[in-house]
Amino acid sequence: MAVGVLALQGSFNEHMAALRRIGVKGVEIRKAEQLEDVDALIIPGGESTTMAKLAHYHNLFPALRDFVKTGKPVWGTCAGLIFLANKATGQKSGGQELIGGLDCLVNRNFFGSQLQSFETELSVPKLAEEEGGPNGFRGVFIRAPAILEVGPGVEVLADCPVPLETKKTMIPVDNDQEETIATLERVIVAVRQGNLLATAFHPELTSDSRWHSLFLKMKKDTGEKRLQCISTSVTDSENHRGKLPPYDLPIYE
Ligand code: GLN
Repeated sequence: MAVGVLALQGSFNEHMAALRRIGVKGVEIRKAEQLEDVDALIIPGGESTTMAKLAHYHNLFPALRDFVKTGKPVWGTCAGLIFLANKATGQKSGGQELIGGLDCLVNRNFFGSQLQSFETELSVPKLAEEEGGPNGFRGVFIRAPAILEVGPGVEVLADCPVPLETKKTMIPVDNDQEETIATLERVIVAVRQGNLLATAFHPELTSDSRWHSLFLKMKKDTGEKRLQCISTSVTDSENHRGKLPPYDLPIYE
């Protein structure tokens, strides 16, 4: 089984390394015909406008759309999520070409500029249920998008609190003081829909391999057999039972 990683721009090297760490062969994809030899595809984070221009230049869009339609698993991280969305807001003027397929509306730079990039502990009960390990996952958000709306067939796997506005409230009793509190709302940051997985953050930059492992277990939408790891020296269950050092950042090879 080979997993393609779209290698036009962005964090494709980091995804290749994350796959290697769990014993899976990654194949860098730069040409349409290379998609014929892979069983699943990861579209990495990076800069979606640039990636779209490069994909357009290499005439990759028709093959990428066909790949999604075959029902083979496809995972978009960050810019990859934007690529997979049916609708995106906040795009550069004139818009940009998307692959589509994922029934959602994405806001491209929802969390702000590069300087507003952040890390946060996400609650990921569904991931923990299917892959073991803790209920939390360290989300690395780099000029990250967020999912604003999802269609009925889309399963939400993680959301994230966002301070939307700051309100002033009167604290009662003796101190007649005003206090400022932030009103929190949640936005969706990880979803699954049939053969598609999408995360607004970057699991490939952490040593927690559960999102990769979840992706590898996704079935082809036609109900074919599950993708399997080729080999792995450390099983996921060992990894998640604390036999390895705790997950940490950064992971670069
Ligand atoms: N918001 C970026 C874009 O528009 C994506 C950022 C990322 O992939 N880290 O492409």
